[in-house]
Amino acid sequence: MLVVGAGPGGSTVANRLAEEGLDVLVIERRQTIGNPAQCGECLPGWGEMSEAFPSIKEDSWLEDYWQFPDHILGQYLEWMRVFSPSMKEYGFSLDCYGAHRLQLDGYLAEQAASQGAEFRTGVELRKVQHQKKLNREVYRTNAGSFTADYVIDASGALAHVARLRGKGERPGVQLPTIYGQVTGHDSDSFDIFMGSVAPRGYAWIIPKGEIANVGIGVHYDNLDVPLKQRLDTFCEGLGLTIHSYGGGWIPLGGKVKSAVDDNVLSVGDAAGLVMPSNGGGVGQAIVSGKFAAESIISNLQNDVPLTDYNKILSKTMAKQLKISLRSKNLFWAFCRNDFTTELAMRVLGTNGLRRAVDCRRPLIIL
Ligand SMILES: Cc1cc2nc3c(=O)[nH]c(=O)nc-3n(C[C@H](O)[C@H](O)[C@H](O)COP(=O)(O)OP(=O)(O)OC[C@H]3O[C@@H](n4cnc5c(N)ncnc54)[C@H](O)[C@@H]3O)c2cc1C
Repeated sequence: MLVVGAGPGGSTVANRLAEEGLDVLVIERRQTIGNPAQCGECLPGWGEMSEAFPSIKEDSWLEDYWQFPDHILGQYLEWMRVFSPSMKEYGFSLDCYGAHRLQLDGYLAEQAASQGAEFRTGVELRKVQHQKKLNREVYRTNAGSFTADYVIDASGALAHVARLRGKGERPGVQLPTIYGQVTGHDSDSFDIFMGSVAPRGYAWIIPKGEIANVGIGVHYDNLDVPLKQRLDTFCEGLGLTIHSYGGGWIPLGGKVKSAVDDNVLSVGDAAGLVMPSNGGGVGQAIVSGKFAAESIISNLQNDVPLTDYNKILSKTMAKQLKISLRSKNLFWAFCRNDFTTELAMRVLGTNGLRRAVDCRRPLIIL
């Protein structure tokens, strides 16, 4: 088994496959797993996750896996506040952590390695060639070539395995984002800011102990002002000091129709499993990783078609992701300026916003 990418999705697949005694190689282009982090670092607790995706509630493997050690869980986030352009506040409860993503990715990889998975860092997949004679694909990297019975695309938002194969679906609509690690913030809630601060996107502050993760994502039509400038202005206005920057793409186009192509299964961001209305994807990367591994195991042991993985994804999260996508599309359509954003938020109210953010149907489209 070849897993491309050692993010939460890749390490979870590797863990579950290795646990079953299968040979797993994970290649990761970064020298240090998880570094640099590309995340706002809000990690859903098991309660939040199983509430959003009720069909995993009874999954004891996932529930156990979710018991992350304290050094990863920076700060418990009991509240979320959403601020309108006029700074009207809508608050609701939450069960999440302002976590340390670098440590999370390292921990998940260590867990998989302890089950027997092999990790090779600094190894980047660069080319996929079809070998006619053997009717196999050869995966070429900067450190050797590989073939495998099963391949997992766990390479994140840009789905590099599908890109290099020139086959298989890739997630659409990428939201550009930037974030900074800051000091000077003293609230203990997860705060979201809507309106011209982040046109047709949002700004966030996620406290994680001594520091906070502050970021901005905007619709790609609004890149006239550089993202870094937007973030600097936002932080300056709040008296926050930025110590380092990061960023990345969040795929907001929704789940791909098929996450299976030949012997390649995609997980996490590569399968478009981010919630489009809130940008959260770590939880779904982990859940899909577990199910992709189990689909391979069922295929090997009982000849169950690999495409059953699509059915499992649909059953587990398709409805929520579809609702979330619809919420995001409505938001992009209505919230074109501060006036319409303010109006839409007042119509939705606290309950509607809560439902829109966490993938339940917002009141406006009931
Ligand atoms: C700025 C930002 C803020 C976010 N905030 C949150 C948040 O607060 N909460 C949340 O739940 N989600 C958040 N997300 C989304 C979350 O980060 C992703 O959903 C999650 O990381 C997906 O996990 P993954 O394993 O699918 O992919 P990734 O974590 O992206 O892992 C992919 C891995 O593949 C490696 N890779 C890529 N190409 C190759 C190659 N060719 N060869 C070898 N290795 C390769 C990469 O180096 C990387 O390590 C945020 C995303 C961004 C960009």
